[in-house]
Amino acid sequence: MKKTITILSVLLFFVSSAESLPVYDSTIRPIVLQGAMNVETDIFISALNESHDITIGHWRYILGKIDDYPVIVSVTRCGVANASVSTALAIETFNPCAVINQGTAGAHDPELKRGDIVIASDCFNSSAWKAHPLKVGEGVDYRYIDPLDMNFYDEYENGERIIFLPVDEKLKALALSVKDKYSDRKIVEGRIATSDAWENRSDRILFFHEEFGSSCEEMETFAVAKVCRIYGIPFLGVRIISNSMLTGEEFIPETGHDCQTFVIEVVKKYIKEMN
Ligand code: SAH
Repeated sequence: MKKTITILSVLLFFVSSAESLPVYDSTIRPIVLQGAMNVETDIFISALNESHDITIGHWRYILGKIDDYPVIVSVTRCGVANASVSTALAIETFNPCAVINQGTAGAHDPELKRGDIVIASDCFNSSAWKAHPLKVGEGVDYRYIDPLDMNFYDEYENGERIIFLPVDEKLKALALSVKDKYSDRKIVEGRIATSDAWENRSDRILFFHEEFGSSCEEMETFAVAKVCRIYGIPFLGVRIISNSMLTGEEFIPETGHDCQTFVIEVVKKYIKEMN
């Protein structure tokens, strides 16, 4: 009921405020494409036809079409709080059939270089852990931790603690199926580590890679995966390596453009298959 009212109010908003006709039709569930920053969403926005910009709360959504199918670009802003809220608002408002979060990331895998792309198999919250007790004077060794899931004590899923949230298998297979078009870069399946921290200490980066199997780190994927899991919405995460302490490559935010180009390829194939 609440969802119907929300969708109706969005449609009314368009009908009352749009100069051109709204492209959003609530009978067709749109695809939501997310990026945190402008360099991670600008290519998507320019790929939209009949686009229409709206803001809900603090977060921007650009509604339009790709290959005649409704697609919503969501500019989440950086970090897990922004990613969670903007995802929940998108799901409540637009009832998408899929959410794809993508953007830049720092490498945890020494084999990955700037420009390589990681298609998530799963993701985890690398800031969720319980430290082994140490007494005064025993130091702050970061290695002695047990990972925590984000359900904590009273919310276990079937009694299980799920540390690594998987992506939707179908979406992942689709993303992997377009990778052969790209011979100029590595496109691999991997595990994404999410937190609000930017780690630049190489030994700690390697610790996460070796202990938890992470391929790269960034600040949004797990939050989006978690919200999508709660709502039962298929989710995919894709990240391009924009920096690596392990190869000495500095952050180039514009790598975000190539990630979007890759994801558009995936989205077009998805739309074709749905049709
Ligand atoms: N504007 C910031 C840079 C971006 S903040 C600044 O002034 O420094 C980090 C954003 O880039 C996040 O959205 C995150 O997902 C992504 N990111 C890229 N490389 C990262 C890394 N090594 N660690 C954490 N986040 C990274």
